[in-house]
Amino acid sequence: MRERLRDHLQTIRDAGNYREVKYLKPLSSTRVLFQGREYLNLCSNSYLSLHCDPRVIGAAKAIVDGYGAGTCSSRSVSGSIDLYERVEEGIARFKGYERALIFSNGYMANMGIIATLIGKDDIIFSDALNHSSLIDSIRLSGAKTVIYRHLDMADLEDRLKEADPGAFKFVITETVFSMDGDVAPLDEIYRLKQEYGLTVIVDEAHATGVFGEKGRGVEEVYGLSGKMDVQMGTFGKALGSFGAFALSDSLVIEYLINRARTFMYTTALPAGTLAAAEAALRLIEDDRSIKNRLWENIAYMRQNLRGMGFDLKESEGPIVPILVGEDATAVKMQGMLMEKGMFLQAIRPPTVPSGTSRLRLTVVRDLTRDDMDQALEALSDTGRKAGLV
Ligand code: PMP
Repeated sequence: MRERLRDHLQTIRDAGNYREVKYLKPLSSTRVLFQGREYLNLCSNSYLSLHCDPRVIGAAKAIVDGYGAGTCSSRSVSGSIDLYERVEEGIARFKGYERALIFSNGYMANMGIIATLIGKDDIIFSDALNHSSLIDSIRLSGAKTVIYRHLDMADLEDRLKEADPGAFKFVITETVFSMDGDVAPLDEIYRLKQEYGLTVIVDEAHATGVFGEKGRGVEEVYGLSGKMDVQMGTFGKALGSFGAFALSDSLVIEYLINRARTFMYTTALPAGTLAAAEAALRLIEDDRSIKNRLWENIAYMRQNLRGMGFDLKESEGPIVPILVGEDATAVKMQGMLMEKGMFLQAIRPPTVPSGTSRLRLTVVRDLTRDDMDQALEALSDTGRKAGLV
């Protein structure tokens, strides 16, 4: 076996796709220490910088004394700490759904939802750029899968027309795509849902806390809060903590509690994690200025990057893909940016389609104007040297 692994790793290296884990120490919401040097962090998914907010940290600290560091058993086996009930009620209310169920992370939530609710006689229509956790969950469901072109509703509709009219049909999509930062047309998806009797599952991992007037996500942008069949969202991105949730009506949640294996057979989240998520949710609900500050930064970065001539694809919001193309060029640019004190990643296949390697930059609330100017200058210089702009 080892020889095969060695050969495969060499192939990955030759293709410029080799990855290694970078161990670092966070210094603040926007700074990391890596191999003795301080970097500006341009790849955090903590879009609202809440993981470092003293009120969120304080909530986590305060509860640990009473509840302990870990829960150390599954919710089904040893009972669920009462905090779960509060956070589930809070997130369901915020999102406009009847009921929520918290899972240990987004990957497991997607697995639990999709592999439990969908079976081999069903058909899943899946966006071509869906996240790996969705793809793996779809595979696990055993359903027939039809991949439609990314965000292409005409293609989706054509495929719906061709499908067996007798089969249950599910559409699964991210609302904000994790590597592309573009947004699914939920109004169109909702129209198709009504017309073709579809069951729609949306992944709002990157939209929660960021999109919509109240930060409820892309559903809110389209005036469709609570209108999909199931929504998945996470606490591990803009909400600054960890964990994830499924939102739906009581029947679906009851079914997941009884049948979702990734809910039943894993250790529950620690109290500190839940308390942090709860505090972050309260901050988002009480103080719109948190989200508005992020969007000011997004506007500033996007306007300047576009002005320099970078191709940001169809992205909106805090995820900014800077299209490079060649894997090796993306890696080279990432190295040059690191030399300039900028910490961000080159995203390559298999995470993104071949020939679309990119730098994935994220904008967060705590970036100052000075931080952003430094980042822009470094990107401009690197982009010029790579012949991109
Ligand atoms: N869905 C999407 C769209 C994601 O980007 C991610 C994580 N990057 C997940 C699900 C998984 O969430 P988690 O990290 O909580 O497992």
